[in-house]
Amino acid sequence: ISISDPIEEHRICVCVRKRPLNKQELLKKECDVVTVPSKCVLMVHEPKQKVDLTKYLETQTFRFDFSFDETASNEMVYRFTARPLVETIFEGGKATCFAYGQTGSGKTHTMGGDFSGRSQNAAKGIYAFASQDVFLLLNQPRYRNQNLEVYVTFFEIYNGKVFDLLNKKAKLRVLEDGKQQVQVVGLQENPVSCAEDVIKMISMGSACRTSGQTFANASSSRSHACFQIILRRRGQMIGKFSLVDLAGNERGADTSNADRQTRMEGAEINKSLLALKECIRALGQNKSHTPFRESKLTQVLRDSFIGANSRTCMIAMISPGMSSCEYTLNTLRYADRVKEL
Ligand code: ADP
Ligand code: MG
Repeated sequence: ISISDPIEEHRICVCVRKRPLNKQELLKKECDVVTVPSKCVLMVHEPKQKVDLTKYLETQTFRFDFSFDETASNEMVYRFTARPLVETIFEGGKATCFAYGQTGSGKTHTMGGDFSGRSQNAAKGIYAFASQDVFLLLNQPRYRNQNLEVYVTFFEIYNGKVFDLLNKKAKLRVLEDGKQQVQVVGLQENPVSCAEDVIKMISMGSACRTSGQTFANASSSRSHACFQIILRRRGQMIGKFSLVDLAGNERGADTSNADRQTRMEGAEINKSLLALKECIRALGQNKSHTPFRESKLTQVLRDSFIGANSRTCMIAMISPGMSSCEYTLNTLRYADRVKEL
C-alpha cells in the first residue's frame, strides 16, 4: 500500500486503533468484543439480552480511513496517520494529530511511547517518529539549504489552564491579540538539532506530566498534553505540527456522583472535546466560522484549524474488552461525527 494513497486529498483523516486485551483483562477472562475485518472497517459485537432472556450479539459496523487491529505497531499506526502530514509543515502549513479515547485505551502509548525507563527497550510513539521524519526531510536537498530551524514545545492543559511540561510545569497565560492571534505567553520553544535531542525532551516532559501523581488519581487522564514541532526561518514561523494526547473522554461524563472539583474538571473536558469536534468539522467543511473560543484547547490550537493548508488526523483509541463496550461505542460515534461531512 502506498502511504500517499487515500489520505493525500483529504484535510481530515479519522482512524481507529484497537489495543490488545491486557494482563488484567485476560486474567478476568474478559471477552474481546471488537473485530477488524478489513483495513477500514471495525465492528463492535455488543452482548444483549432479549425479553425472554436469550442472549445475542448486536453488531455495529463503523468505517474509517484506517482501522488498526491489536497487531499493529506504533510505527505502523504512525505511517498511516501522522506521517502523511509531516510534509505539510515544510510547505507552510499547520498539521495536527489527536489521540482520542477513554483512559487506558492507549493514547499515551501511541503518542508518547514509553520512555519511563521501566521497560528495557524504550518504545517510540508518534512524537518520536514524527520528529525523526522532520529531520530526515530537513536534510534532503530540497530543504537542506533553506536555513530552517526546529523547535519543540510540550505543554499540558488541565482544567482550562496551561502548564509548560518542559519548564517545571510553569503556569502560562493565553492571550489573544487584536489580530486574533493566540499566544501562550512564556511557553518555552526549545531548539533541537537532531531526533535524539527531541527524544530527550519527550522523555523529560512525559516524566514531568506524571510526576507527583498517584496511579488511581492520575491527573494525566484529565489533562490534554500537546507536543509541538515548530519550523522557523530567521524567527519566522514556517509550519507547526501539534500532536495532542487528549484527556480521557469518560472524564467528560464525571458530572454527577463526584466532588465539586471533579465535576468542574469533567464539565471542562466535555466542553473542550465538543469544541474540538466542531472545529475539526468546520475545517473539513471549509466553514468560515470556527468556534475555537469555546475552550482553551481549541483556542490554543486556533491557527491549526484555519488556513488553506491545515490538515488534521484523529486516532480514536479503543479498549477491546466487554466491560468497556459502552465507552468504546461512545468513542466510535464521536470519531464518526468528526469525519462525517
Ligand atoms: P491512555 O493514555 O489512553 O490512558 P495508555 O497509553 O496509558 O492509555 O495505555 C494503558 C496501558 O495499556 C499501558 O500500560 C500501555 O502500555 C498499554 N497499551 C496501550 N496500547 C497498547 C498496545 N497497542 N499494545 C500494547 N500495550 C498497549
Ligand atoms: Mg494517557
